[in-house]
Amino acid sequence: MRKPVIAGNWKMYKLHAEAVNTALALKPLVANANHCEVVIAPVFTALKMVVDRLEGSNIKVAAQNCATENEFGAHTGEVAPSMLKDIGCSHVIIGHSERRQFYGETDETVNRKTKAALIAGLTPIVCVGEMLAEREAGQAENIVKGQLASGIEGLTVADMRRIIIAYEPVWAIGTGKTATPEQAQEMHGYIRQIMAETHGELIAGGIRILYGGSVKPDNIESLMSQPDVDGALVGGASLEADSFAKIVNYGR
Ligand code: PEP
Repeated sequence: MRKPVIAGNWKMYKLHAEAVNTALALKPLVANANHCEVVIAPVFTALKMVVDRLEGSNIKVAAQNCATENEFGAHTGEVAPSMLKDIGCSHVIIGHSERRQFYGETDETVNRKTKAALIAGLTPIVCVGEMLAEREAGQAENIVKGQLASGIEGLTVADMRRIIIAYEPVWAIGTGKTATPEQAQEMHGYIRQIMAETHGELIAGGIRILYGGSVKPDNIESLMSQPDVDGALVGGASLEADSFAKIVNYGR
């Protein structure tokens, strides 16, 4: 069955010492969390320190972005997925809506980054999600379908077994406005249905689909009770060890 994933996206917060302190504070609080995979995504500058200090723990470390290729070269400001793997990262968030909105991320770059991450041996967490206006115009499913189709284009069946999808409605990110469990389920079920159509029931049944958008300790349980919600990508509420640990330990 699908093992849930609870991932914390620390965005552009925390100097490296604070990131290490938060990671160390989190360690004992989630040490018994065998029911899910725990992932945190600090900023680039803190990744190596956090990886080193979490060695031997059950917390995995993700980057928040990566380059579209692994080959070293003249790509000023970029970090290759292979470099992230080299320092001990296991996951990378790709196509977060903040990158799509403010840093020119496109479905095409999402696709290239996803492939590069897979080649490097990282698990991509591929983000999709509609804007409020698109939902209000009845376009939410079409938008997500398009993002998905382009984002995973050309991936093999073996690749599909390794990726994680995060559905993050943009109107719910950092706004305190969570999708209702029913809204989340509706879109997650739709995503799984698309996967079944394009890659078959087996792949669709195995792929983890995380929900993201104002997940908090008090709403995680109802979200996780939905059959197609396989975890959460958590922003604001992942910044404090206590609140993230409560989310990780939902229902316990
Ligand atoms: C995110 O950054 O992916 C996110 C979902 O943020 P928040 O939980 O703060 O809405």
